Formats: sequence, structure tokens, C-alpha cells
Amino acid sequence: MNQPASTQTLNGPIYDFRALGFAPGEVVVVTGAGSGIGKATALTAAKSALAVAVWDMDAKGANETAQAINASGGTALAVTADVGSDKDVARAWDESARLGPCRYLVNNAGPSMVTELPFDASLALAMGSIYRVTTSWMERHGAAAASVVNMSSVLGNFQGGTGQAFYPVAKAGIAGYTRHLALKHRGQPRANAVAPGFILTPRTQPYLQNENTRVRLARIPAGRTGFPEDVAAAVMFLLSPAADYINGALLPIDGGWTSS
Ligand code: NAP
Repeated sequence: MNQPASTQTLNGPIYDFRALGFAPGEVVVVTGAGSGIGKATALTAAKSALAVAVWDMDAKGANETAQAINASGGTALAVTADVGSDKDVARAWDESARLGPCRYLVNNAGPSMVTELPFDASLALAMGSIYRVTTSWMERHGAAAASVVNMSSVLGNFQGGTGQAFYPVAKAGIAGYTRHLALKHRGQPRANAVAPGFILTPRTQPYLQNENTRVRLARIPAGRTGFPEDVAAAVMFLLSPAADYINGALLPIDGGWTSS
């Protein structure tokens, strides 16, 4: 690899996607935006002049992301919510309404692949939360809803995995649900999914010390693991008006890993 994975920094460049057709001040909700991929997506959306509702069950993380955006001249609102809870999600939509109608949704939050919950419960959390947030978005903001991007994975779609069984099942289910949404609503909103490979985040960083992980990652043609910002860039493109003819897609973001 070009850069030893263990010494790679956690962040890549944050791009400005205003040229892709977003109108300044349009609202995006990003779930799990207190850390990792969600945080990078929230920061990228803010740099692209969107107003960001930063949802996370970790209040500290949500506040830090929102403060970083507001301190740099953007608009963000921190919302503490567990997307696995109907009550929390309803309250989160109520709070987010302060920013205005929500045009864009990024369903990023999900449990780690090593979460030790019973299979049914973990599946309900990983997949059911995306259904819950999207359905309540459509009920409240259906007229404004422009597009949604769901966080899937290479696991379950292009690779197997060694974590808990629910994880690849849920990630394949999320891709299926995305295709359902794409057809069901005939493009209003458009619905797409991304399938990250190995992205260096606080959640995955501990695995870099694992010899099996290192051997597997050595196959990545890009010569490095992914930055959260690599995923954020793809999410922003798929959300944007520039992707108007893309609906129901599942895009791998893996440096070519699944082709190797
Ligand atoms: P991360 O750094 O741990 O960030 C996830 C954030 O979401 C954390 O702040 C977490 O809070 C929050 N969260 C977790 N469950 C939540 C819930 N039920 N409600 C609200 N917030 C919740 O993880 P990440 O690596 O960026 O992963 C983000 C997403 O990408 C996940 O869906 C993951 O499956 C997917 N993904 C990641 C990779 C990768 O290589 N990193 C690859 C493929 C797919 P806590 O810290 O309190 O748990």
C-alpha cells in the first residue's frame, strides 16, 4: 500500500458540491453524524451550503459536528436521537423542522458488525431504523423530499464477512429496500445506496492491527483504506440534482477492493 494503513490519517479533503445543483439553505438530515462517515457527510453538505440536521444518539458527537459547522459559517442543528426508537425519531423530526422542509436524507447510522444483540433485534435496528426514518420523512416532508442515500456496505452485497450474521443480511436488505423506494415513489424522492469498503473511522481503526485485516486490505488497488470523505463525496453526488437520472443504484466505494 502507498501509505501504511496504521499510519494513515483519518481524514481526506472535503469538497464543495454547490456546482451539482443544490440551492443554498436546502435542508439535509444526516443520521449518525457525530462520527466517521456521517460526520464527514455533514461537513461536506455544510461546505456545499446545505443546512444540516446532525442526528446522533451520541449527544457529544452531534454537538461537536454541529459546532464545527456553525463555527465555520454554516448552518447546523444538533439533534440527539436513537434511530432505533420511534419516539426519538418523531422528536428528532419535530426539532429538525426548525431548519425548514427536509429535501435530502442520508440514512447513515447503524450498529457495528460486532454488536452483540440477538439476531432479530440487531436486524430490526440496522434495517428497521432506515425504514422508520425514511417513512416518517415521507409522511412529514413528502412534497419537499428530493432524494435519499442509504448506507449499505460491500459486506452482504459483494463480499462475505466474519462479524455477526445480521450485518451482511441487513446491508443486503438495505440495498433491496433502496430499490423498492426507487420504484415505489417513481423518483420523488430518488433513492440510492452506497457500499463502502474499508473506511478508516473511529469504529474500524482498531481492526488495522489485526493481521487478517492487513492481508485482506493489501488487495485494495487504490493502495489505501478509504477516508470518510471518500464516502461523503459519493453520497453528495447521489443526493444532488446532478444525479437526477440515477435511481435505485448501489455504488461501491472501495478503492476497487471488490474488483480485485
Ligand atoms: P462510527 O464512526 O462509529 O459512526 C457512527 C455514528 O453513528 C456514531 O456516532 C454512533 O454513535 C452513531 N449511531 C450508531 N447507532 C445509532 C443509532 N441507533 N441512532 C443514532 N446514532 C447511532 O461508524 P462509521 O464507520 O462511520 O459507520 C457509519 C455507517 O457506515 C454504518 O452504517 C456502517 O455500517 C457503515 N459502513 C461503514 C464502513 C467502514 O468501513 N467504516 C464500511 C461499510 C459500511 P455511538 O458512537 O454512540 O455508537
